[in-house]
Amino acid sequence: MTQTFLPFTKPTIDEDTIAAVGDVLRSGWLTSGPRVQELEATLSAYFGGRPVRTFNSGTCTMEIALRIAGIGPGDEVITTPNSWVATSNVIIEVGATPVFADIDPKSHNIDLDCVEAAITPRTKAIIPVFMSGLPVDMDRLYAIAKKYQLRVVEDAAQAIGSTWRGQRIGAIGDFVSFSFQVNKNITTSEGGCLVLNNAEEARLAEKYRLQGVSRSGHDGIDVEVLGGKYNMTDIAAAIGLGQFKRLDEFNAKRKQLAQHYFASFGDQFEAKTGAELPLADFDNMNWHMFHIVLPERIKRSDFMERMLQEKIGIGFHYAPIHLFSMYRARGFKEGMFPVAERVCRQIVTLPLFPTMTAADVERVVAATNAILAH
Ligand SMILES: *Cc1c(COP(=O)(O)O)cnc(C)c1O
Repeated sequence: MTQTFLPFTKPTIDEDTIAAVGDVLRSGWLTSGPRVQELEATLSAYFGGRPVRTFNSGTCTMEIALRIAGIGPGDEVITTPNSWVATSNVIIEVGATPVFADIDPKSHNIDLDCVEAAITPRTKAIIPVFMSGLPVDMDRLYAIAKKYQLRVVEDAAQAIGSTWRGQRIGAIGDFVSFSFQVNKNITTSEGGCLVLNNAEEARLAEKYRLQGVSRSGHDGIDVEVLGGKYNMTDIAAAIGLGQFKRLDEFNAKRKQLAQHYFASFGDQFEAKTGAELPLADFDNMNWHMFHIVLPERIKRSDFMERMLQEKIGIGFHYAPIHLFSMYRARGFKEGMFPVAERVCRQIVTLPLFPTMTAADVERVVAATNAILAH
C-alpha cells in the first residue's frame, strides 16, 4: 500500500473562508478596514471584553507591548531559551537586554524558580511562553510580577483557546500576545493580536502599529513616537474570521487526537523506550503541538530521517535561542541552561492537526515504536 505524506501540521481552510476572501478582493478595500475591525471586536468579546488590536505578525505584538510598557535600553527582560527566536529578538529590538531562565523538564515552559533567581534591580518584564498551549502557573507568575513590580508580556502565540483554572488565556493577565501564523491553531496566513489592559494602551498600540501617526497636530495628523508598519489587512482578517468560527471545533479535535496518541503509546511506552511523552494536561491545553523527547541513545536527525522514509513529517521546536550565533556573540554559551539544552537537543514534534485521523495517529505511533525499538 502506498501511503501519502503526513505533514506535522496543516491549516484547515474551508470554502466559506475562501469565498469571504474573494468578497474582500472584489470590494476594492484590501488594506485594514471593516474586516479588521470585525475581527478585533470578535476577539475582544472572546477575551472577556478586554481591548484587542491586530497586527501583521505575532512577533511585532510583543515588541509593541514592550514599547507601550516603556521598556528600552538599560532594562532587562527575562524569557525562556526554549522558544522561537522571535520571543527574545523583540527584547533586543527595543534596545533592552534579554536574560534567560532555564525551563522545567516536564512542562518545557520557563521555570519560575529560575525566573525569580534571575531578577535584578534592572529587570522590568517577563516574557513567558506557553509551549504547545500549556500555560505556566499563572498564580505564581503574577505573584512574582507583583512582588518585583514587573510587567508581563505573555507569549501566548500557541495558546489560543487554552485556559488557566477555567479562565481563558487572554481574558486574564497583563499583555497577552497571540500569533495567527499559518502553523498556529487558527491562522490569518500571517498575523497576530495583542490583548491590552485599557483604552490608553490600545491607543498607543494603534500608533506603534502605523508609523506612530496620531490624529492631532496642525494638519490633523501628527507623529510623536517612532512606529512601524504592522497593520493587518482585511484579506488576512477575513481568513481569521472564518478560522475563528471553527476554533472550538479545531481545538476539540486536537485534544481528541492527543488523547489518542497517549492511548496508542500506552502506559509502558516511556519505560520501554526511554522517551518522554508530554504532560497530559487535558484541562488547560489547546494541544497546539504534540512533542516527545527522544532518549539520548537516538540521534534526532536519524529519527527524523527514518520517519521521513515512512512519509511522516516531523518538526522540532525549538533550537535553544541562547546558542544561536547572534546570542553567543552576546556572551551566551553551552551549559548555561542545561535543561533547555537537553530537551531542545532531543525533542521532536509529531504530526497533529485537525484533519488528521485516528489511523494517522496510529501510523505515527507504530513508526515511532519501530524506530525506538532498535
Ligand atoms: C509563532 C510564534 C511566535 C511568532 O509569531 P509570528 O506570528 O510568526 O510572528 C512567537 N513565539 C512563539 C512561541 C511562537 O510559536
